[in-house]
Amino acid sequence: MAFTQTERLNALPPYLFAEIDRKKRAALSAGRDVIDFGVGDPDQPTYPFIIQAMERALRKPERHRYPLGGGLPEFRRQITTFFQQRYGVELDPQRELLALIGSKEGIGHLPLAVVNPGRTVLIPAPGYPAYHAAAVFAGGEPYALELSAAGGWLPDFDAIPAEIAHQAVLMYLNYPNNPTGATATLDVFRRAVAFAREHDLLLAHDAAYNEMYFTSERPPSILQVPEAREVAIEFHSASKTFNMTGWRIGFAAGNAAVIAALARVKSNLDSGVFGAVQEAAWEAYAGLDRPEIAETRKMYRQRAELLCEGLRTLGFQATPPEATFYVWAGVPEGLDSITVCNRLLEEVNVVGVPGGGFGRAGEGYVRFSVSVPTERIRAAVERMRALEW
Ligand SMILES: *Cc1c(COP(=O)(O)O)cnc(C)c1O
Repeated sequence: MAFTQTERLNALPPYLFAEIDRKKRAALSAGRDVIDFGVGDPDQPTYPFIIQAMERALRKPERHRYPLGGGLPEFRRQITTFFQQRYGVELDPQRELLALIGSKEGIGHLPLAVVNPGRTVLIPAPGYPAYHAAAVFAGGEPYALELSAAGGWLPDFDAIPAEIAHQAVLMYLNYPNNPTGATATLDVFRRAVAFAREHDLLLAHDAAYNEMYFTSERPPSILQVPEAREVAIEFHSASKTFNMTGWRIGFAAGNAAVIAALARVKSNLDSGVFGAVQEAAWEAYAGLDRPEIAETRKMYRQRAELLCEGLRTLGFQATPPEATFYVWAGVPEGLDSITVCNRLLEEVNVVGVPGGGFGRAGEGYVRFSVSVPTERIRAAVERMRALEW
């Protein structure tokens, strides 16, 4: 045997989507016409104005070298402006910002900077699997912060046992939420910041979907809470906002000491975000209020409404989300999410993600990502109508 897999790697939870993934690949290679609501990845291309910025940037030799530090000055300046305009929050562009190779990279590396082995990390469940893995890789002990439909998929800080709160050094939160589509008000963040200050722990808020909203009021930033900078950092991503998932760029903003610690971890592991990608991203953020981006929001909202209407006629419980491109649908009475997803795939070639894969609290739900055009959504609903549960 050539190597021994580490205990930390072995301690990762089994990849619960593996079975669905395998079946999806088999269906595709058998030439079946699969309608895929499984992947959280925009189906539309990156906006032309961003591609043009990238083309210009690629021709500049200074972009071809190692990008210095945690973000080029123009990138930091543009993000600072974005934060000021969107949230009324003033960031120090040098000390309170850090460019990331996609927000997942920063989310994943953060515990190496702030979690000692054996310390507790509070992880929302259901939740994005990267938080749990990040905690385990650093030798931390994940503790599930269970969210529920009754609680609006919002954290209940009072339900966290005192000894867990005492042991914890880090808490991840994510609103607008993947997979539930739930959004949080600034008041939820106020309570989160108060909890973090009381128990002396770091709050890491994942705001990947802050620009994918369908209400007149935009999702807030946790940094709008006046004391947040003492205890919080926030992760942002260009991926969903600008259809740029493949480009790999995001950033962290907030507590200067935490930003410096994360930057130090990163400086030992990677050498920064490709300068041309940073330039494309700062042009993207400068164009955030362009009409084509508002059009995309409208498109997702219409898709989500169409899918929810269809699902309700089939016995699911589904309401369109206020943000994110996820429909978090309650399965018909008496069924479980794995059975539903297996039958959808095997019998009608429709892919959804079983909620149980996001943690026990997600059981009874299926996540449908509306990264699928409307005609295909209609076709999927018609196919599902043929199923007898
Ligand atoms: C898509 C997603 C991200 C973004 O990841 P990037 O690495 O920035 O592409 C982060 N958090 C959640 C919850 C997501 O769904």
